[in-house]
Amino acid sequence: MENNKIAIQKIINDDVESAVFKALDLIEAKKLMSKKNMNILIKPNILNDKPPERAVTTHPKVLKAVIKWLKQFEPNKIIVAESSGGQKIGYTEKCMKGSGILEVCREENVECIPFEKMKIKVYSIENPIVLNELPSSELIKQVDLIINLPKIKTHGQCILTCCIKNMFGTVILANKPKIHATFPTLKEFCAALADIYSVSKPALTIVDGYLCQEGNGPSAGDVVKMDLILAGYDGVALDSVVCELIGLNKEDILYLKFAEQKGLGETNLKKIEIVGESLENVKRVFKKPRVSPISGPFPRWISKLMSKKVFKAAVKIDSSKCKLCGTCWSNCPVNALTSPTNNQKLKIPKWEKNKCISCYCCAELCTYEAIEFKINYIKNVIFSWFGLIMIIFLIGFIFGIIKLISFLF
Ligand code: SF4
Ligand code: SF4
Repeated sequence: MENNKIAIQKIINDDVESAVFKALDLIEAKKLMSKKNMNILIKPNILNDKPPERAVTTHPKVLKAVIKWLKQFEPNKIIVAESSGGQKIGYTEKCMKGSGILEVCREENVECIPFEKMKIKVYSIENPIVLNELPSSELIKQVDLIINLPKIKTHGQCILTCCIKNMFGTVILANKPKIHATFPTLKEFCAALADIYSVSKPALTIVDGYLCQEGNGPSAGDVVKMDLILAGYDGVALDSVVCELIGLNKEDILYLKFAEQKGLGETNLKKIEIVGESLENVKRVFKKPRVSPISGPFPRWISKLMSKKVFKAAVKIDSSKCKLCGTCWSNCPVNALTSPTNNQKLKIPKWEKNKCISCYCCAELCTYEAIEFKINYIKNVIFSWFGLIMIIFLIGFIFGIIKLISFLF
């Protein structure tokens, strides 16, 4: 039970530091700091370069409070590291600056460094579900303690991004889109997320529930001021509690099932002890992402076919917002987006539906929030051979009924 203790602490009058200290006291986190001269890695969420008030990245105040808490124990070194969403060298540094994370690290005199700037090591994954090995930073096995610092946001592809999903940021640059392309279905990608989490499983997770995102997250959603800090040792349990907190069905968060299957944590709320605020007191139902994958009791081949043909989301680019910066097409893992051609009337990136694997990388990375996903069910059904078969089947069915009625009467 000790490992399944989750603290929920309210932030009062924007005093994030007190809330972080109280949450860590509630789970007696100081027992992790018994060793002298520890080297500690903090992994925040620095998805892109948006400012803290947009609630895309871990809030700098939360990071600052965690660093201050750690400094009481006089560690040897604190390193803040991340690999942001883009593939280009230099993108993570840009995001560290824009998100306000770099400034805090400078003020607190701790290292702030992209994973891609470190020595890379290829890790073999124990009991892999889909991913056998992962190239990541050597640092994750060299430090004495890994602290995960995720943020609560809804996510267009995975529905929730928080503890497990945040460790996808240990995957370096172009390896991220490669994983998306290798595991194009939501189920496979979520299995890969559980495999990735197992490589760098953090000993402590502190969830930034200060400013969160609902709806069209993880980058272009609406900001929700939740004023909460959550902390615990088990990231799977924390994600499960977050689902309850924001009104999501944890059964829909596929990576949680895979993480539990791999023995990485607990999803059963009855086996999780909540300390501090009660869930009921702080619960707030979030708007769901506009494009949510369906889960149903269908055979795998039907689900795959339906998600490919009927529930296929189209990338919509708002020409009034698009600055043709090129981030989307240079980061698309399967080259489904390209720069506009000379004879294209509307100068927006060109999208090829048949190549797109709906990985949402483009929307996540577009600084100008110019990309949205929309599903046109009718168009999808009518313009696919799957839809054609369905229509023929339906016409045949109606025709059969009419025949039966005319035969009976
Ligand atoms: S859609 Fe966004 S990322 Fe793509 S070119 Fe336009 S502004 Fe840049
Ligand atoms: S177009 Fe966007 S959603 Fe589609 S594969 Fe490329 S990056 Fe992913």
